[in-house]
Amino acid sequence: MKLFDDISLTEYNCFLCGELLIDCSTVEHVFPKWLLKRFDLWNERLTLLNTTKIPYKNLVIPCCAKCNNNSLSQLEKRIELAFLDGYETMKRLDKLDVFRWMMKIMYGLLYRELTLLRERANSSSGYIITPDELKKWRMLRVFLQSIRLPFIFHNDIPASVFIFKLHELHSDNNYFYNDTPATLCSMVRMGEVGIIVCAEDNGMLSDVFFDLYSALETIALHPIQFYEFFAQVTYLRYLMNRTPKYLFTGHHLADHPVEVVAMPMKGLSEKPIFDEWDPNYYAKIFEMILNKGGYNIDSGVRCQDMACSTLVDENNKIVLMDKYQNIVGKKAWKK
Ligand SMILES: [Zn+2]
Repeated sequence: MKLFDDISLTEYNCFLCGELLIDCSTVEHVFPKWLLKRFDLWNERLTLLNTTKIPYKNLVIPCCAKCNNNSLSQLEKRIELAFLDGYETMKRLDKLDVFRWMMKIMYGLLYRELTLLRERANSSSGYIITPDELKKWRMLRVFLQSIRLPFIFHNDIPASVFIFKLHELHSDNNYFYNDTPATLCSMVRMGEVGIIVCAEDNGMLSDVFFDLYSALETIALHPIQFYEFFAQVTYLRYLMNRTPKYLFTGHHLADHPVEVVAMPMKGLSEKPIFDEWDPNYYAKIFEMILNKGGYNIDSGVRCQDMACSTLVDENNKIVLMDKYQNIVGKKAWKK
């Protein structure tokens, strides 16, 4: 079973299984076609790592017919049907599916960037990322193999998954995607559903944010509040000072699932797993995410001593907002 082999990362190899493609006639849309259709994104542009923009319709990556028609389309169908059914069904989705779906998009974007020039008008500028750089996300590629091969994740999936109910805004402002590949976090806002996934934290972020996330479960958030949660999660993931390690078994045996055991994150060190939270640095990250999402730090964000929040007020109560960003109530929660 191929799992760790150093596969060729080129435009002639399937992005998922690595198979050399004879005619390159099948491609995978990084963002699924149903999503492009639902939010009318074909000609909308996404900003890449080097800040250039590319239309969503051009975000395709090489993929063999087997991966494309079997494993990937089945995963896609499960997500699409759940989305069509609404937030409640999305919330009940298998977390592993949500993890794989979001990470396929993030890895797919990186894979696409292998063949996009850093400066479009300059053919000698090199590509946005190189195959060697893409290998930094090697473990993510291994986990994505669970889309096409049987995997058993012992002690839960190696990620944190958050699914929120959001206020729907008007039709041309109901979608936003953002990711931070360096911290393996990504988010998507699709109408009344917001998803955040952080990979390779082994659920540490789910633990840290458990109380707040639980308190927000029964509330529809304004997008600006959802972006704030993403900013907090992303920054904390950035502060994680351990490199997660995994033990794999079974991958060399035929007809045997790959078994994955996450090693204890703390290890032998007494040092806390997260470095100290710097409110000034966090405020910059929050502002950057807001800007990308079409808001700014003055858009009703309460900033006190740089502890910017739209989610929690100065008395530590959760802020309830309507779709127009008006504060319509407060809710106590256990922190
Ligand atoms: Zn393939």
